[in-house]
Amino acid sequence: MLQITDLSVTYGGALTALHKVTLAVPDGGVVALLGSNGAGKTTLLRAVSNNLKRHRGKITSGKLAFNGIDLQSKDTAALVSNGVVQVPEGRRIFGRLTVEENLRVGGLRQAKGQAAKARDHVYELFPRLQERRNQRGLLLSGGEQQMLAIGRALMASPKLLMLDEPSLGLAPLVVSQVGDVIKAINEQGTSILIIEQNANMALSVADYAYVLETGRVSLHGEAQELAATDEIKHLYLGHG
Ligand code: ATP
Repeated sequence: MLQITDLSVTYGGALTALHKVTLAVPDGGVVALLGSNGAGKTTLLRAVSNNLKRHRGKITSGKLAFNGIDLQSKDTAALVSNGVVQVPEGRRIFGRLTVEENLRVGGLRQAKGQAAKARDHVYELFPRLQERRNQRGLLLSGGEQQMLAIGRALMASPKLLMLDEPSLGLAPLVVSQVGDVIKAINEQGTSILIIEQNANMALSVADYAYVLETGRVSLHGEAQELAATDEIKHLYLGHG
């Protein structure tokens, strides 16, 4: 479904942030992209969402296709309409808006009936958000804000949901709740690309994983198998 082939990206023409990266997310799959700070994970998401220009980044080679659509030919809004939706790093919910209003923003491109259905679905998945529907975003806990950011993305009925470091800054118990929610979303038919420094959580939900190191894929394989390799154990599991 998502196929990235030999993707290279530079910033300002000088720094190569990604070098010939090849990665696929199959229909119905959960794929994790692991890597430390600055490895290029966010850059890859920006490329998929056609959002590099705003950051002075440029694709210098490679192909990005989603269900046969060339991703470079669509702007970010058109991609959302095609089912490619991102939960950005740092959540970026609207603090002054209520939970319900935040969700409404996520469903703006949907027909009214469909948006209401999507909202009911989000509340089913996150009963806590329903309880706090009239609360302003800034009054939510970190975990609730992450749930709201995921819920807002779900309002667009994604076929492919990409999450940028959803566990960042959250307590271990909340991280495992986020993992459960990701599994539930996938079981309902959405493919997932999850970007994480927290390899523990990502490998526990993913079928397949890639490791990025300074812009190159250094390792990839079945998530279970990767979790057992010495490289992963040494590099990442200690940080989870
Ligand atoms: P993080 O976990 O910190 O988000 P990351 O793996 O997502 O790290 P990227 O943010 O993709 O890494 O960064 C990859 C490289 O590109 C880094 O060397 C970074 O400094 C550089 N970079 C990222 N954004 C820009 C930008 N807008 N302009 C110039 N260089 C950038």
